[in-house]
Amino acid sequence: MAIRGYVQQHGAGSAVVTGAGMLGLEAAHSLHELGLRVTVLERGERLLAKQVDARCSEFVHAHFEALGIEIRYSSAAACLPPGDRASAVRLKDGTSLPCDVFLAAVGIRPNIELAAVAGLAVNRGVLVDDRMQASVPGVFAAGDVAEHNGMLLGLWPIAAKQAEVAAVNAIGGDERLIAEVPATILKGVGLDVAAVGRTEAWSRRSGNRHRGPRKVPEARPHRRPRLRRRSSWPPPAGPGRGHYRGQAAASSRRRRPLRGASGRLVGADEASRARLSRRQADAPA
Ligand SMILES: Cc1cc2nc3c(=O)[nH]c(=O)nc-3n(C[C@H](O)[C@H](O)[C@H](O)COP(=O)(O)OP(=O)(O)OC[C@H]3O[C@@H](n4cnc5c(N)ncnc54)[C@H](O)[C@@H]3O)c2cc1C
Repeated sequence: MAIRGYVQQHGAGSAVVTGAGMLGLEAAHSLHELGLRVTVLERGERLLAKQVDARCSEFVHAHFEALGIEIRYSSAAACLPPGDRASAVRLKDGTSLPCDVFLAAVGIRPNIELAAVAGLAVNRGVLVDDRMQASVPGVFAAGDVAEHNGMLLGLWPIAAKQAEVAAVNAIGGDERLIAEVPATILKGVGLDVAAVGRTEAWSRRSGNRHRGPRKVPEARPHRRPRLRRRSSWPPPAGPGRGHYRGQAAASSRRRRPLRGASGRLVGADEASRARLSRRQADAPA
């Protein structure tokens, strides 16, 4: 409401938003809806890199571009020239962008000064273990200020869960934060984007190995089944079972072309009969 009032009062025509995360994009969309010409600065090379994969970033980019919102990558605000109203923003590359409204949505930076002075171990936030206990026994931290597993997730449901764990432990219980599964939704931008679970970026930050999406093999016409695949246990149910070792070898033997007494290719039954009659003929009387 305050921004809307400011735009109307000053007849603002353009806005620069720095930070193209969820909040930055939502803000950019709202400013666009107010009729402003909007430019978004993103220091990374794609949108929502913490939440979605590169292909999804492209979809989101295309949506904003189609609306007429410009997004500049590898670009970040450095400072605002002095004055009581925004008129331009200086970028890190030394250039200036004129704007009537400037909005920064560049993530959370916890104020850790008090914790550091008090002797708690800090990094970007207050370092906590799985019990949300800080480096000093009996001191707990939760929410945006707490750095757990190298992450500051800045999400309400995770902050609430962390607070619950910290509270239980603070009164003598033993509760652990097992898994944080971030779930985020991009709201109110005319596009439904929901991201759930751990992304590649998350894995890199937390040091976990990310297996990446499973590759779907390209369909090959007339591809022959591999009969001697390594055995795995338990074997999958269904008709595919015959492809496992043992059964596979047996079935491949059965399918091998056989030659009858006449030398022509025959089916299994006829070949057996031919072998039998040869044996009977060779047998001593
Ligand atoms: C614009 C915006 C939109 C958001 N939208 C979403 C969303 O859609 N979904 C979602 O999951 N999350 C969202 N978040 C994030 C979510 O709000 C936070 O993750 C959550 O509020 C964290 O809770 P917290 O208690 O740790 O911190 P806060 O909610 O920031 O509360 C900290 C409180 O501590 C006070 N405080 C600070 N220092 C001191 C001190 N030294 N002494 C005493 N008090 C102090 C502050 O004044 C404040 O009241 C959004 C955040 C913002 C800024």
